[in-house]
Amino acid sequence: MTMEAPDTTLPPREAMEFDVVIVGAGPAGLAAAIRLKQDSAKAGREVSVVVVEKGSEVGAHILSGAVIDPIGLNRLIPDWKARGAPVDTPVVEDEFLVLGPSGDIRLPNWPMPPLMKNHGNYIVSLGALCKWLGEQAAELGVEIYPGFAATEVLYDEAGAVAGVATGDMGVGRDGLPKDNFTRGMELRAKYTLIAEGARGSLSKQLIKKFGLARNHEPQKFGIGLKELWQVAPGKHRRGLVRHTFGWPLDNRTGGGSFLYHYGDNLVAVGFVVHLNYANPYLSPFEEFQRFKTHPAIRDTFEGGKRLEYGARAITEGGWQSLPDLVFPGGALLGCAAGMINLPRIKGSHNAILSGIAAADAAFEALGAGRAHDKLDAYEQAVREGEIGRDLKRVRNMKPYWSRLGTRLGVAIGGIDLWLNTIIPAIGLGYTLRHGKTDAEATGRASDYKPIEYPKPDGKLTFDRLTSVSFSATNHEEDQPVHLRLTDPKVPIEINLPLYAEPAQRYCPAAVYEVVRNDKGEPKFQINAQNCVHCKTCDIKDPSQNITWVCPEGGGGPNYSGM
Ligand SMILES: Cc1cc2nc3c(=O)[nH]c(=O)nc-3n(C[C@H](O)[C@H](O)[C@H](O)COP(=O)(O)OP(=O)(O)OC[C@H]3O[C@@H](n4cnc5c(N)ncnc54)[C@H](O)[C@@H]3O)c2cc1C
Ligand code: SF4
Repeated sequence: MTMEAPDTTLPPREAMEFDVVIVGAGPAGLAAAIRLKQDSAKAGREVSVVVVEKGSEVGAHILSGAVIDPIGLNRLIPDWKARGAPVDTPVVEDEFLVLGPSGDIRLPNWPMPPLMKNHGNYIVSLGALCKWLGEQAAELGVEIYPGFAATEVLYDEAGAVAGVATGDMGVGRDGLPKDNFTRGMELRAKYTLIAEGARGSLSKQLIKKFGLARNHEPQKFGIGLKELWQVAPGKHRRGLVRHTFGWPLDNRTGGGSFLYHYGDNLVAVGFVVHLNYANPYLSPFEEFQRFKTHPAIRDTFEGGKRLEYGARAITEGGWQSLPDLVFPGGALLGCAAGMINLPRIKGSHNAILSGIAAADAAFEALGAGRAHDKLDAYEQAVREGEIGRDLKRVRNMKPYWSRLGTRLGVAIGGIDLWLNTIIPAIGLGYTLRHGKTDAEATGRASDYKPIEYPKPDGKLTFDRLTSVSFSATNHEEDQPVHLRLTDPKVPIEINLPLYAEPAQRYCPAAVYEVVRNDKGEPKFQINAQNCVHCKTCDIKDPSQNITWVCPEGGGGPNYSGM
C-alpha cells in the first residue's frame, strides 16, 4: 500500500479493513451505508461498512434549506413515517415573489412547470434528518465515526483508491506533535465512496488525479447563507414555502431567497448568491442581511428570535458539470459530484438516490469477488436513471441566467424548462455551456465601486462575528491553519490591488481580514477558528490560491437544526 505523501518521521498508522469506506455522513453517504446493509440482509451475505464524518456528531455540519422531495427517502426506508423520521411538515402553500427595492410582485403558480411545484414535498431540518438516518444506519450495523476527518486518500500499488486515512489529532500550529498527539487511522477498503458534499477536499484531489472533470463543463457554485428563526406565533404559516429573486441583487447577479415555515413556529430563511458574481466588492453576507429588511419579508421576523446561523456552498453546474463519477476503487456521490437541480434548489433527493445506486453497484461487485475497480454500473444508473433525467431537464437554466441576467434569463430558462418537461424524450437537443469558473468570473476592482451596506440593527440584521457565534463554531486553536495559501504573497501583492482582496467580503465568517500596521502596510490575516466550512474561499478566490483542508476532526460548526 502506498500513500500520497508518506511521512517517514511519524509512527506508522494502525489500519482497519472494510469492504466499503464512506466519507461523509450526509444524505448521500448515509443512504449508501443503509442500502449496503439492506442489500446484505436480503442476500444473506455480510458486508462491512464504515462511515467517517468530520462534524462532532452526525448532522453537525449539515446545512440545507430544506424542502425535500421524498422520492429518495421513500425508496430507501419506505416506512420512514412509522419509524419516526423527523419529516412532519408537508408543504401546503407555494409562493414566488419578485422583489424590487420597495415592492414585490407575486408570480402566479399556474405557469410554473410541474417540477417547480412543491405539492407532496416536506419542510425539514436536513441536519435532523441525517441524525435520524445515522441512527438507522447504526441499527443496521454500520460503524459511524463522527469527529474524524478523512484527510488523505490511500492508493494501492496499481494506483487504485484503497481507502482513506483520518487526520492526526494533537498537532500544534507549528506542525509539531503536542502532548495529546494521536496518529490518524488507515481505513482500507475494497471500495471507497466519497460523499463529502459540495467542493469536498478529497473529491477535489480525486477529480484532478483521475481527470474526472476533463470531458465536462466546470462545476459552478453558489453560497447559501441561512438563519433559523423562531417567529411570533401569529406570523407563522406552517407549510408555507416562499421563494424570491431580485432585490437586493442587481439583474446581473444571480441568486435568490427561501423562507420555509415549519415545525414549532420555525422559519428557515436563506439567501443564495451565485458565485459567478463579478463585483469583487459584493458581500453575500451583507446582501442577505439587507434582504431581510424588505417590506415583504421583515414583518415575518418582527417579535421573533434568531436561533442559528450558518453558510455552505451549493453546487449549481448540474448536468453538464457532472464529472465522471467513478475511478478505480471508488465513486463520487451526491453533491461531491454536484447533483443539485438548481431551479428547484433541491439536491437531497438525488444525494439519497445516488447513495442507493452506488451501494447496489458496490454490493454486486463485492459479490462477484471484485475490488478496487470502477463501479461502472453506478455511473450508468446515475446518468441514465432518475438523477440524470432530473438534471437534464433543467440543464440550460443556469447558463441562461448567467448570460442574460435574472429577468430575461429566468424567463427564457423557464420556457426552455417547460419545453424539456413537455418533450422530455426529445428535449430541446442543445446543452448550453457554463464557460468560466466562478473564480474566473470575478471582475477587477477598478471597474466597480465599493458597496455601502447599512449597519446592522442587532434585531433583524446582524454583523458577521455575532452571527458566527450562532453557528456554535469551535476549533482547537493550537493547530495548523486549515486554509492553506499556495503562495502567501498573493493576497496582498495580487488580490488586493486587482480585486480589493474579496476574501474579506465573500467569507461569511470573517475569517479573512486585511489589517494594517502603524505604517499603514497591509497584512493578510486568517482567523481560521471562525471557519464554518462553507468552502467558498476554495471556490471563489480569483487567484485560486486558497486550499481548504480538513481541520482536526470534530472542529467547525455545531449546527443543531440546519
Ligand atoms: C443553502 C442551501 C439550501 C438548500 N436547500 C435545499 C432544499 O431545500 N432541498 C434540497 O433537497 N436540497 C437543498 N440543498 C442541497 C442539499 O443540501 C444537498 O444537495 C445535500 O445536502 C447533498 O448531500 P450530500 O450527502 O451529498 O452532502 P452534504 O449534505 O454536504 O454532506 C456531506 C457530509 O460529509 C462530511 N464531510 C465532508 N468532507 C469530509 C471529510 N473529508 N471527512 C469526513 N467527513 C466529511 C460533511 O461534514 C457532511 O456532513 C440546499 C443546499 C444549501 C447549501
Ligand atoms: S474560511 Fe472559507 S470555508 Fe471557512 S467560512 Fe470562510 S469562506 Fe467558508
